[in-house]
Amino acid sequence: MSPSELRAEFPIFAARPRPFHYLDSAATGQICRAAAQALLGFEAAARANVKRGVYRLADEATQAFDRARAEIAAYLGVRDAREVILTSGTTFGLNLLAHGLVGRLAPGDEILLSTLEHHSNIVPWQLAAGRVGAVIRAIPVTAEGRLDLDRLDEVLSRRTRIVSVTHVSNVTGAVSDIGRIVEAARAVGARVVVDGAQRVPHGPLDVEALGCDAYALSGHKLFAATGAGALWIRRDLAEELPPFLGGGEMIRRVSFAGTSFAAPPHRFEAGTPPIGPAIALGAAAAWLAGLDWQALAEAEAALTARLLAGLAAIPAVRVVGPTGTQGRLGVVSFAVDDVHPHDLCQLLDSRGLCLRGGHHCAQPLHDALGLEATTRASLALYNDASDIDALLEGLEWAIRRLA
Ligand code: PLP
Repeated sequence: MSPSELRAEFPIFAARPRPFHYLDSAATGQICRAAAQALLGFEAAARANVKRGVYRLADEATQAFDRARAEIAAYLGVRDAREVILTSGTTFGLNLLAHGLVGRLAPGDEILLSTLEHHSNIVPWQLAAGRVGAVIRAIPVTAEGRLDLDRLDEVLSRRTRIVSVTHVSNVTGAVSDIGRIVEAARAVGARVVVDGAQRVPHGPLDVEALGCDAYALSGHKLFAATGAGALWIRRDLAEELPPFLGGGEMIRRVSFAGTSFAAPPHRFEAGTPPIGPAIALGAAAAWLAGLDWQALAEAEAALTARLLAGLAAIPAVRVVGPTGTQGRLGVVSFAVDDVHPHDLCQLLDSRGLCLRGGHHCAQPLHDALGLEATTRASLALYNDASDIDALLEGLEWAIRRLA
């Protein structure tokens, strides 16, 4: 598929007046045609609740929902689709895990996070830790905005029961060495959770081979609808975890004397799930799985290199992540001397450039970098060189006006 054919698979590019340079895919990806059609197809012509009705329409809806589970499992490299829980997104998945895993900790047990984390992978653990007296620690970062795994021994201890880290930073684009983290965590008997929100839009993966115990993602970042996501939990762990929310369809038997719960994944899917968005997520995963990801990864690396080189040539700009393309994806944040990211983003918007300015829900990382806020350009498979060039030209123009 050529770059223009690929772009044509995303309806927004035909719908928006030009110039339109969407460089905020780390916040939310644009919906692909396959997902948009699946969503509308379900809501307009095949809508029924799932896992309960016995008439044909309801049965078809349940089958479509389970097919989505299987498509997401295939994208993640999960062999048994029953290990995939359909959620509302990464935040929900991480809260579910924090609630279930931390409940069994003793006071003084430790939860190891990292300085790179999005607030969604910090606050749920803090809330849960506060209830049991567990202690939160964090893997430090290098000056390049990568996890400093050479200092893992300083923060991992015999008391560490849970390690929860991001696969890819939503600020610096750095890819975490999950294999090394898993090895160290296993040596002290800790469970490993991975926040996959920023990794999954960059191609299919094999979470079982990563060696972690759980992996969370959001559908809206995977070019599907807002409102649905997925959480993979290794079977042995899922069997041990208590329910997160109570309600319909997560039970075996309810009486006032007590309730017994369904097996995973249903135990974790209380109430009516986001059926249409989940079906759209399955459709996106199936469509994405058929693309040539080697070519797409090369194209993303070339665009990232073009962006990094262009930023390096502007004296007022300082990139806050890795300055090379090794071990990183196309999420690039930078600071501009004497210019606030919000002013910059507003001015760039007047040239059709959509970028994010702020702390990107990663305040501990910004604290560690000594910055209040940064500007972020994040790439996805529909971006091309014209987006990068428009950004670089726009940036020089905006800096002349603002600095
Ligand atoms: N984790 C990371 C690394 C993210 O970038 C985000 C969103 O930006 C999240 C978690 C939260 O995702 P959501 O808001 O879709 O639950």
